[in-house]
Amino acid sequence: HTAGDCAAVSVSAGSREIPAVLGADLRVPVKGGRLVPYANLDYAASAPCLEPVSAAVAAALPAYSSVHRGAGYASQLTTARYEQARHSVRAFVGARPDDALIFTRNTTDAMNLLARCLPEGTTVVVFDSEHHASLLPWSRAVRLAPPAFPGEAVRAADEALASIEGPALLVVTAASNVTGELWPIAGLAHIAHRYGARIAVDAAQLVPHRRLNLTALDLDYVAFSGHKLYAPFGAGALIGRPDWLARAEPYLRGGGAVRTVGDAPEVLEWSDDPEARHEAGTPNVLGAVALAAACDALNATGWKRLIREEKRLLARLRAGLATIEGVRELSLWGPDHPRVGIVSFTVTGRDAREVAETLAAEHGIGVRDGKFCAHPFVRHLLSASGDTAGKGGADGGCADGATGAIRASIGIGSTAEHVDRLIEALREIAAR
Ligand code: PLP
Repeated sequence: HTAGDCAAVSVSAGSREIPAVLGADLRVPVKGGRLVPYANLDYAASAPCLEPVSAAVAAALPAYSSVHRGAGYASQLTTARYEQARHSVRAFVGARPDDALIFTRNTTDAMNLLARCLPEGTTVVVFDSEHHASLLPWSRAVRLAPPAFPGEAVRAADEALASIEGPALLVVTAASNVTGELWPIAGLAHIAHRYGARIAVDAAQLVPHRRLNLTALDLDYVAFSGHKLYAPFGAGALIGRPDWLARAEPYLRGGGAVRTVGDAPEVLEWSDDPEARHEAGTPNVLGAVALAAACDALNATGWKRLIREEKRLLARLRAGLATIEGVRELSLWGPDHPRVGIVSFTVTGRDAREVAETLAAEHGIGVRDGKFCAHPFVRHLLSASGDTAGKGGADGGCADGATGAIRASIGIGSTAEHVDRLIEALREIAAR
């Protein structure tokens, strides 16, 4: 298993222009009170909204009403829109006909839902390189060290799964939120299935950049977030095999999840449709509509073109970083391993937070700093590179005050000008 089988890059022949993003003309204040165009290089945290997404939400707003319940026209329209959204998102990831798609709030919510649905006694195998959303929800987990090369990931999973008795689930990212590197998910799925285990893939950072086909890759579960996929906050999805989901306790108890409620509390029949069972209460219909519109817009544009554009900008970014003395890129599997548009780096002797704040305050550039909700992984990368200089960093609720890095990430709407501004600003900061 080599880099060749790292996350699926199948391309579709879309035909539309690359859609515009909202906020592309945003101007922000910098030191001295000047307004400058905002250079958003923080797509891996949350990507800006695509225009077709905003249009889809605007079209759904004038007539919405209760979903799955009312007989009125607006109610039927809303139900149709919600189920059409489910259909679009299923198609986006190449779901099998019997897969369930549960709309969640985000990837974290999706992974926690899956954790609640594991059969009794399931052991989860997970690499320490995961985002906390995929590292922490499991009550019984075997944690593996970040592997030294992709084949080592497959070998380590093989060894761990071989020693597990009873049901097992391998949880792995498709593209790292720290380094952008693609993981060998096809090889890992193959190994998991050889032991009768299942695989759940955290695709939060893959789906904004690459087509993912869960049927072709033979993945059991996939989770991702709308707000990283050019839709607003509040909607994500868990997609996969229906059986565990249909048998588990409902994620939330309430209306929609239940088929019959008797007068006595024990007379209660939960829905055995996994989608209804785990989506109690009024769902986030507009969030689902937005998420689906993003999926449709990306497919309509065509992945070949999106990937070509991203690779061009990513190469410019990495080549620029390589020219700055003291800037060191973080990588698990070396500079040539395939990756999406995410680069984390340190600036020797500089505090990550201070660099990020200077980029914002003096140059109008938005990046992320800290440990990116992947504390064990960033610690591993920093100690592997011998770099303990990049101290501190904000980590949006995840900070623990230890070492950190700076992350620049790109996507639709990113420009060569944004990248060049970052490089020049960093050159200046590093030279101070
Ligand atoms: N997984 C990965 C790889 C991520 O990058 C993120 C967000 O940064 C998450 C999971 C969690 O996503 P959310 O905060 O939308 O639940």
